[in-house]
Order: sequence, then structure tokens, then C-alpha cells
Amino acid sequence: MTIAIVGAGLGGLALARVLHVHGIEAVVYEREPSRDARGQGGMLDIHSGQRALREAGLIEQFHTIARPEGQDMRLLEPDGTLLLQEDTPDDAPSLRPEVDRADLRALLLDSLPEGTVRWGQAFASAGDGWVHFSDGGRAPYDLLVGADGAQSRVRALLTDARPAHIGQNVVELGIPDIDRTHPDLAAMVGRGNYWVFGDGLSLAAQRNGDGRVRIGVNFYNTGEDWFDGSGIPFDDPAAARARLIDLLDGWDARFHALIAACDDTVEPRSITTLPLGLTWPSTPGVTLVGDAAHLMPPVGEGANMALLDGALLALALAAHPDDLPAAVEEYESEMFERAGAAARMSAEMQELLMSPDAGRRLLAFFQPS
Ligand SMILES: Cc1cc2nc3c(=O)[nH]c(=O)nc-3n(C[C@H](O)[C@H](O)[C@H](O)COP(=O)(O)OP(=O)(O)OC[C@H]3O[C@@H](n4cnc5c(N)ncnc54)[C@H](O)[C@@H]3O)c2cc1C
Repeated sequence: MTIAIVGAGLGGLALARVLHVHGIEAVVYEREPSRDARGQGGMLDIHSGQRALREAGLIEQFHTIARPEGQDMRLLEPDGTLLLQEDTPDDAPSLRPEVDRADLRALLLDSLPEGTVRWGQAFASAGDGWVHFSDGGRAPYDLLVGADGAQSRVRALLTDARPAHIGQNVVELGIPDIDRTHPDLAAMVGRGNYWVFGDGLSLAAQRNGDGRVRIGVNFYNTGEDWFDGSGIPFDDPAAARARLIDLLDGWDARFHALIAACDDTVEPRSITTLPLGLTWPSTPGVTLVGDAAHLMPPVGEGANMALLDGALLALALAAHPDDLPAAVEEYESEMFERAGAAARMSAEMQELLMSPDAGRRLLAFFQPS
């Protein structure tokens, strides 16, 4: 059984690792030229995905890199009123610890035999048992697994569905080494998540394991072309920060100070999702895991689902080593149900975040009376 996995993200690597634990080797084709070729993002909260790490034999190592204190939360209003502060006690169970995506990916990468990941191999097309790469190379497969994320190219082999914009645009920024550079702001943000909700926009700050605080300014109910008319000059970071401060007009000066303290990384990101409850007729020889299968609003489920997809597909393959179609069908029917439920829950949370009174509704969510 030759298994070709496209994409060395969390889903593809979890799949390769759990297969390896069960004595089945696979090859992961990744378009990035090396493991450190680009920044690997911020923090992820890992809850249901811990099961995948247990199946991967990595749960103890996971807890050494996870940050339980990252579960801390502060919720504020634009005038600076603190609505909620939740600090994680030292002895609290690590049910939803935060982990740096780069650290989690490194844990999975280091757990694979040398040569499992082939770097610099960008999937271009597939057919007749061969994967074709954009450099003209090719490789054989019995099973092709698209673990190639939100903009998956493998997905087109199974469905015409494409991600669509959901009316949220985010500007991502960050303050490096905040304890040293801005200790006052470090104390304000705290150890975990810091949220400020206004009408139609929010500011989210989150401490990362490397001392950087990542900040997202979210604009809700905005169209796909919103950045074009936003007046945010992404090619001039200082002017972009000044424009963001203007857009937070009337907000407490401390929130303006957070933006002013950011470095020159100012990135636009548009939020897209796949249709809720997406399925496809099972097709022998090809399947999808993670965002390629079920891109959902970014409210804390996507990474967990990707890890679980990878682990559960591996278990299905280990259970039916001589019957690929049965293994794929078993995996997909469970995944459609599980990921569909997670996507529905995420869509409900997204609807709450986009509502005009999101701060108060979130407070009620976390502190039901
Ligand atoms: C660099 C990066 C940073 C991220 N940062 C965050 C974050 O801060 N917070 C958050 O919530 N989520 C983040 N995400 C998304 C998050 O990791 C996923 O939503 C979730 O983990 C699902 O994982 P996945 O394995 O399905 O996809 P991903 O983790 O997105 O992995 C997909 C992989 O496929 C590779 N790939 C794509 N196209 C091809 C191709 N044609 N050929 C070969 N390889 C290909 C990509 O380079 C990537 O390594 C990030 C993703 C990436 C890639």
C-alpha cells in the first residue's frame, strides 16, 4: 500500500505518525522548501485533538510544550471596562492548553523517520495512480490524501466546493518580546487571550510561547473587497498602524497603545469557509483531512479536527490493511459527522462574534446565570 500525503501541516503529519506507530510507512509531500521556510503561525488550543496525540504516542511530550496558562481570558469593552477575567489555577486540569503551532508541528515532524517528508514538492495534479508535482516530477500512490489546507488543490478530485468569504476581514500584527519592550502592555494582556468587542469590530491579543503577542483587529460584516477601500496601506506599516488607530476611534487609549507598539509585520487576512456539512461520494484511492475537507470559522476547532482526522484515518487503514475502499469509507463517514458537528458549533460561535452585542453575549456564554 503506497500512501501519498500532500501537505505537512497538522493533519498530514498526524496521519503519517499514527500510521508509523502501526507499522505502515507513508510519504508526505510538502510544497515548502524546508521546515523553517516560513513563520508557522500562533497559538492553537488543543482539546479533542489530544486524543490524536495519545494515538501518536506523543501526549506526554505534548504536555511539556503546551501552555495551560494560555487558557487565561480577559474580556473588555472598548471604553476599557473589564467584563470578565479568568485565570487558570496552577493545578487546573490541562483540558484546553494552548500550544505554539510551530512547536506542535516540530513535535510531529521529529517523531517521523528521516525522509518521510519530501520538502519542496508542490502537488499539481493526480491521476492513474500518479501524483504530479509542479517541478515536473511524479510519484506513485494507491491512496492519495489531501492534507493541503484551506486552499487545497487535491480537493478538486472529490468535489467542486470552494471556500467562500464569510464577511470577516482581519489585520494581523504583533509585539515582539513584549516583557522586555512593553512590560506595562504585557501585564495588561496577561498570559492568555485578551478580547475587546466593539460594534462591528474587535481586537484580539494573545501571548505566544516565544514572548510575542499576536494581535488581530477583526472587521465583521465586511465584504470580500473590504481591504481595497479600507485605507490601510499594507506597504507602509507605520501608516497602517496609524490608520488602524483611527479605525478604533473612541476606544480607550490603552488599546491604541497596543497597536502603536506593534512591529512592521502587518498582514491582511480574509476569513473563508467551506459549505457547512460538505460531503462527497467516497472515491477509492483519494480522500481529504483537515482544512482541505472542512475549513470552518477560526474559533478553535480546525486544528483539533485536523489532528483527529489524521489519527482516525490512520487507525481505519491499520484496521483494514487489505481493503483501502473500506478504510476510506469508514474514515469519511465518521469524519463527515464529527467535523460537521464541529463546523455547526463554530458557525454558531462565529454568528455570536459578529453580532453587535458580542461582548455581552460572550460574557453570558462564559458565565451563564
Ligand atoms: C503557516 C501556517 C500558519 C498557521 N497559523 C495559524 C494560527 O496562528 N492560528 C490558527 O488557528 N491556525 C493557523 N493555521 C491553520 C491551522 O494550522 C489549520 O487550520 C489546522 O491546523 C488544520 O491543519 P491542516 O493540516 O488541515 O492544514 P495546514 O496546517 O494549513 O497545513 C497544510 C499544509 O499543506 C501544504 N500545502 C498546501 N498546498 C500544497 C501543495 N499544493 N502541495 C504540497 N503541499 C501543500 C502547506 O504548505 C501546509 O504545510 C496556520 C496554517 C499554516 C500553514
